[in-house]
Amino acid sequence: MNTKTSKTLFLIILIISIALYFFLFSKVVITKDGNIKSNFVFINSEQASFTLKNKQSIKTITKSTISEMYLLMPELAAEINFNIRLVDRDLTNVYGVTGRADRKDEIEISISSSYKGGIEQAVKDGLIGTVFHELHHTVRGWTMYRNQFPQGIDTAAINEGLADVFAEIQVGRAMDKMSKNEDFALWSKEIISLPKNADYNQWMNIHPDGREAIGYRAGGYLVRAALKNSGKDIVTLSYYSIKDIYQLAGY
Ligand SMILES: [Zn+2]
Repeated sequence: MNTKTSKTLFLIILIISIALYFFLFSKVVITKDGNIKSNFVFINSEQASFTLKNKQSIKTITKSTISEMYLLMPELAAEINFNIRLVDRDLTNVYGVTGRADRKDEIEISISSSYKGGIEQAVKDGLIGTVFHELHHTVRGWTMYRNQFPQGIDTAAINEGLADVFAEIQVGRAMDKMSKNEDFALWSKEIISLPKNADYNQWMNIHPDGREAIGYRAGGYLVRAALKNSGKDIVTLSYYSIKDIYQLAGY
């Protein structure tokens, strides 16, 4: 091999190495957060408006939560649209923020303008947990449109319980400030014996007898029981069927 040939060969190897390095490196960057695009629409309430600072914190927190979510449950939409709505009603019970997964790629987040400490405090206290909760729904297929589950409070309770327990593990606190000392075992039995067309609002939000969020709270209890009995982690359990989760919970 003469000097010229070996120089050319060296150059080729060098170019291939650099190209390979960039190929692998960019791969790592892509898989780190899934390169998920997020878009934001802000809707003010009758009594209050988002400030530029509010909007910036909301975007930053939501984007970093998506990146964390991607590492745990990567089956997210490639692009997610967030409708961020300011509401004047009291959301103290849920740390100032609530949400709704409309579609796999569309989430509505409601932030209370009347939260103690203001909008920025509500964002700080409640946004991460709610984003985790709603993203969990989009991965599991529990959405308002193109919902992948049959009707029934028994189904709703497990899907909401999974999202709540998942989010609560990520943020290190309960998702609501309601009492944890109710007879959730009895509530679970009530839910199981309901007809499939039982009133959603009554069993998931507010019951005429005064009980709040029966489905959410009993669902959380059932999911925790399934985790304890099976020794599985919340991400693994999140891919199980409704029937299997009831069985693991002992029902
Ligand atoms: Zn939910």
